[in-house]
Amino acid sequence: MAAANSRAERPAAAPRRRKGRGAAPYTLREVYPLLADYYGEVEHRPRLPPIDELVWTILSQHTSDLNAGRAYDSLRARFPTWERVLAAPPDEVENAIRHGGLAAQKAPRIQSVLAAVRERTGGFDIAFLAERPLAEAKEWLRSLPGVGPKTAAVVLSFSLGRPAFAVDTHIHRVARRLGLIGPKVSADAAHDILEDAIEPERVFPAHVYLITHGRRVCKAQRPLCGACVLAERCVERPDLEAKGLTARPGTGVPSPELAAKPL
Ligand code: SF4
Repeated sequence: MAAANSRAERPAAAPRRRKGRGAAPYTLREVYPLLADYYGEVEHRPRLPPIDELVWTILSQHTSDLNAGRAYDSLRARFPTWERVLAAPPDEVENAIRHGGLAAQKAPRIQSVLAAVRERTGGFDIAFLAERPLAEAKEWLRSLPGVGPKTAAVVLSFSLGRPAFAVDTHIHRVARRLGLIGPKVSADAAHDILEDAIEPERVFPAHVYLITHGRRVCKAQRPLCGACVLAERCVERPDLEAKGLTARPGTGVPSPELAAKPL
């Protein structure tokens, strides 16, 4: 099995330039302390065992964490072991995860992933990935049916504490607007670029800071540029403001209490 390139082997991403004159765009290393000051410290607490995290992440695709949680709880209540999920008729699994949306697609995907894990390991314990080189662990997960870079990074990072950078739609948008990645870089390609741009011990907090910033300030529609601690050297802010696409000053600005809400 071919392992993905390690940090040292991957080509460095070309820095993106800010339009017009002015300071160079931020690097992720420069963004980090600004967001850390704004949002406070991030504590890493493993969420679920790795196989559970894998199933949870599949359930969370294209839905909210709330709905994914409901679907996960319903699945575990209906089938207390992964063996029973695997052996169940697909329509029963589908019924059990209906709260999460796209149940007809997610049920067979979950059963395929569980079948592949059992075939390769003889069970459902994939905690051994904590000991494998990171590139190899990513490749192992990504070779499972329907598992992409984001799902692999979530399992490795959230469950196993590995420095894998998971990039969702919020992080992709914030990174693109700030110029941390080029305008045409896909979310899939952004994983390695952002991972290489920060020290391993800061990968998980950087993920939390960027996702939180995307949800609270750098929103998809009408970003709150007037209240953003990264406004000074943001690549896309001048264009967004010139086109009237940002929130009006004073509207929707997060209160200090919200900014300080524990992450
Ligand atoms: S200045 Fe605006 S576009 Fe840039 S990161 Fe902040 S909220 Fe997003």
